[in-house]
Amino acid sequence: MKEITVNETKKRVVKILPCVKCGNDDIEIKDCGYTTFNVAWVKCLKCGHEVRVNNCDWTISQEAIDKTWNKENDPKILRHKYEQQLIEIQKKIDALPK
Ligand SMILES: [Zn+2]
Repeated sequence: MKEITVNETKKRVVKILPCVKCGNDDIEIKDCGYTTFNVAWVKCLKCGHEVRVNNCDWTISQEAIDKTWNKENDPKILRHKYEQQLIEIQKKIDALPK
């Protein structure tokens, strides 16, 4: 029996988190449309909070853009990131000569 490979395109809904700075969910997602070294950004249309996606890959997928925004606007992820920074700062303070 012969087998063939079929390319399928599936659509799915990706949730975009509201802006972490002002809570607005009117978010603009844009990219330059370059075929190489594309640059994309996601911007809150209320307060202007912006997350840039610079990828030296051939293309930037819509999913990568959305993931970057969500990562930078998820309070749980941000809290964890800042807590790690505090731990590192505390280690440096503790290492200072008395
Ligand atoms: Zn905002």
